Amino acid sequence: MPRRKLLRGLPISSGIVLGHARVLLPGEVRVAEVPVTAVQVKDQVSDLERAVAQTISELKDLRDSAGKMIGGPVAKVFDAQLMIAGDYEFLNKVKERISIRKRNAGFVYNELIQETVRPLSKSPDPYLRQMVQDIRAVSDRVLSQLAGYKQKSTIRFSPGTILVGKSFTPGDILAYRNRKAAGFIVGEGGRSSHMALIARSLMAPVTLVERCWRFVPDDCRLIIDGTSGIAIISPTDSEWTEYQQRKKRQGPAAITRIKKLQQIPPRTSDGVPVTIAANLELPGPVDDVLSSRDFPIGLYRTEFLYLEKEKFPAEEEQFEFYRRVAETYGQNEVTLRTFDLGSDKIKSNGPGSHEDNPALGWRGIRAMLDMTDIFKAQIRAMMRASVHGNFRIILPMISDVSEVDRAKKLISQVVLDLRRKKLPYDPEVPVGIMVEVPSAALMADALARKVDFISIGSNDLTQYTLSVDRTNARVAGLYHTLHPSVLHLIKMTVDACSRHMKEVSICGEIAGDPLALPLFVGMGVTHLSMNPARIFDACRLVTKIDTNLVRLLVASVLASGTTAQVKRKLESFREALDNRNAFS
Ligand code: PEP
Ligand code: MG
Repeated sequence: MPRRKLLRGLPISSGIVLGHARVLLPGEVRVAEVPVTAVQVKDQVSDLERAVAQTISELKDLRDSAGKMIGGPVAKVFDAQLMIAGDYEFLNKVKERISIRKRNAGFVYNELIQETVRPLSKSPDPYLRQMVQDIRAVSDRVLSQLAGYKQKSTIRFSPGTILVGKSFTPGDILAYRNRKAAGFIVGEGGRSSHMALIARSLMAPVTLVERCWRFVPDDCRLIIDGTSGIAIISPTDSEWTEYQQRKKRQGPAAITRIKKLQQIPPRTSDGVPVTIAANLELPGPVDDVLSSRDFPIGLYRTEFLYLEKEKFPAEEEQFEFYRRVAETYGQNEVTLRTFDLGSDKIKSNGPGSHEDNPALGWRGIRAMLDMTDIFKAQIRAMMRASVHGNFRIILPMISDVSEVDRAKKLISQVVLDLRRKKLPYDPEVPVGIMVEVPSAALMADALARKVDFISIGSNDLTQYTLSVDRTNARVAGLYHTLHPSVLHLIKMTVDACSRHMKEVSICGEIAGDPLALPLFVGMGVTHLSMNPARIFDACRLVTKIDTNLVRLLVASVLASGTTAQVKRKLESFREALDNRNAFS
């Protein structure tokens, strides 16, 4: 049996799988060079046309199947591949070269693909890198057809199969998921790739571990946790049991259990209501569960509207999407976040657009204040859709008071224009900000005066406070959301909001952490927004909390000097809470 090994990777799509590895070796499609006669050229061209037609038909099937399984806009990621497959200019070049060079269709097609992809794959531009992945996904299909490979297998994987591979296309994820693959470890492709969008829509757990296909042994026992980005090769029995428990609490079943909750919002044992809301980043099956139980959406990340097509959608397209959200959630509050994109995700704007450190660069509100037309189009679409539901708007990555002033001015311009044109909108839509940069937490008093509400983004607040890149697996071990410095900044923000009587919520991952939740209630936070898979447990936990007791916990935890001390105190509080409830 292979030795136990813990791999710290990056979280791509939430969920836990306990199973075994099936390593798919990267199959560079090799195409032999075969000379053809002038007479055979015609046959080669027809073979090419047939292969392309078959590829287009497969991709359309995938798009339809994605549309049925996840519905709505996410299935559009296949449109990019369909456009590439049907690029007639490119195909004409292939045909021309077949007849000039007198070589087989597969060889010439592959040669031209390599010539196209080579310069693009060296580019630091994420848009071009995504394009390379899409081109490869298409060309692999065309070349497989030309090589006469049989249709890909439809046989189901055995339960618990975790596929390990260099890269997976969105179509692979969809097809393998249909064949009951339980989860994936991928070697390439970030959280905002098309593959990741599809995986999250399908709730397929995915962890990214660089070069995984080289060292994860085939058929080994394996655990992956797509929420934390961890994978364990040959886990110990106690790890296996621990992750079995976690899986029960966090899997899709945890979302379905939401339906069984008694009281929403839950109340603490001494009667204080605590609003538990959901973080969403894509439309999907979870919408039905949440809306049927009247859960608010505390954070709707809207970036996927850009990422699925790598271009900013027009106002009208956005309006249609927000209107659907509004209609789904009715009078339940939905907090829509304006685009939080940066140079690492936005298609290159020409020379100089590459940044060595995108997290500290042109991101979130900074980018939107530079691209005011895009910002205003998004606000207009949200405002117009607001009459169909109960919206709030939240601005990400605020690091200075002046950004709030400028953003609010642009929002007023949009509102004025809507009023002038007599277009309907809700004039009461609250505008708030995310506090996720230490400077914002330190200036929370000044910021709270200017906005209707604040939501604390602990994911970024942790990364910026501790100087730990949240997307870098090498420093993942230093990323401590319970670090005392982060907790102090959260407390400062909460206190500032309470002084100015503004609602404050927490919407980073930490909001759903059962260890941290009592602490936040102790600080006076009564709005928490989290991954839907955490909601059931969070609601149950709230009912066990006595606000008088958790208030005492705050001073003790904030006096800690290290994360380890914080954890110890929170763990012993949790134990006492469980015992107390067991005996009451
Ligand atoms: C955060 O930073 O905590 C947050 C909720 O935003 P995101 O994870 O989308 O950056
Ligand atoms: Mg953030």
